[in-house]
Amino acid sequence: MPTTKKILILPGDGIGPEVMRQVRRVIDWFDKFGDIRFEVTEGLVGGASIDAHDTPLTDATMAAALESDAVLLGAVGGPKWDALPFAKKPERGLLRLRKDMGLFANLRPALVFDALAEASTLKTELVRGLDIMIVRELTGGVYFGEPRGIEKLPDGSRRGVNTQVYTTEEIRRVARVAFDLARKRGRRVTSVEKSNVMESGLLWREEVTYVRDKEYPDIELAHMYADNCAMQLVRNPKQFDVIVTDNLFGDVLSDCAAMLTGSLGVLPSASLGAADRQGRRKALYEPVHGSAPDIAGRDIANPIATLLSFAMMLRYSFDDGAGADLIEKAVTNVLNGGVRTADIMQPGKARVSTTVMGDSILRELDKLGH
Ligand code: NAD
Repeated sequence: MPTTKKILILPGDGIGPEVMRQVRRVIDWFDKFGDIRFEVTEGLVGGASIDAHDTPLTDATMAAALESDAVLLGAVGGPKWDALPFAKKPERGLLRLRKDMGLFANLRPALVFDALAEASTLKTELVRGLDIMIVRELTGGVYFGEPRGIEKLPDGSRRGVNTQVYTTEEIRRVARVAFDLARKRGRRVTSVEKSNVMESGLLWREEVTYVRDKEYPDIELAHMYADNCAMQLVRNPKQFDVIVTDNLFGDVLSDCAAMLTGSLGVLPSASLGAADRQGRRKALYEPVHGSAPDIAGRDIANPIATLLSFAMMLRYSFDDGAGADLIEKAVTNVLNGGVRTADIMQPGKARVSTTVMGDSILRELDKLGH
């Protein structure tokens, strides 16, 4: 009997709904022909939820997210809601999802499709075939540490304070995510911190080493200072397999790595929580890009980033690597065939709409097999 998985889809705002429509067609394709049956429900998040319920995420939708096997999100935000107070902004919906689901590990692959290698601002030979995974700690570190704030000093000037803080367990759990991923990839992890100038960085290095020595002796571990890592990412990015780093460095380095690919419209991401007794993790999948209000509603957005986010869901939440490979292969073939949405358009290629990109990928899936 095939297993059934519950997916909650939150298309969100801007281009979210239109790209999600194409991904939904692919999910339906897998439901029909794949090994897993999908029970899909849709909900509102961000501005769409503010308009309907006066809050960026209702308790009912939050509960549905917690009950589902995985959540697929489009994007949130847009000028319509920019003037709202901070607590009511669309982004709060996303932050609540991450917080209440306990999503502490953010996975950001930087993968370059051969057909798009020329879109990178780096030399093509540096990025052709690039396939790295950045694992960023997402719920700790300087973005959350206490004390924090801006205080007034006796002389009338002000002082801003944020605190970088990590505990043993926070470091070990994200290290395990990175080592587990490395086992399914090139078996190499680079741990990134600034242990030369930060005690929390030294603890990071010691704890990551401890986890490797105790639990993952088969994985090659290297340590690198964050400033050097930034340089290495643009000098010779293919030296990396999996990078694991803290919240702040991960924020910066994952965007840097993303831009190596030059194509925001094809970049997926995953955020994972702790594993329960059955090994099941809470998980949220979403494209790296935002709601792109400048092109929303025109059927020209690229659906590939959200589609590859669904492929990550198959691989990491449902252990269906073959299904994920199939989607990646279909996307590769479509791109090799010269089909492009506007954001990745190149001379001599065929410029198509969001819907036609969806059609092309489905046709390719049909060809590749079920
Ligand atoms: P953005 O990622 O939405 O857009 C940046 C540029 O890339 C735009 O020119 C856009 O048209 C283009 N682009 C993005 N995705 C594309 C796609 N799939 N296909 C074709 N072109 C694409 O970032 P922004 O403009 O800085 O932000 C717009 C809104 O999105 C803001 O409200 C911001 O807060 C929000 N945002 C949300 C998320 C999220 O939901 N996770 C992330 C980033 C930004």
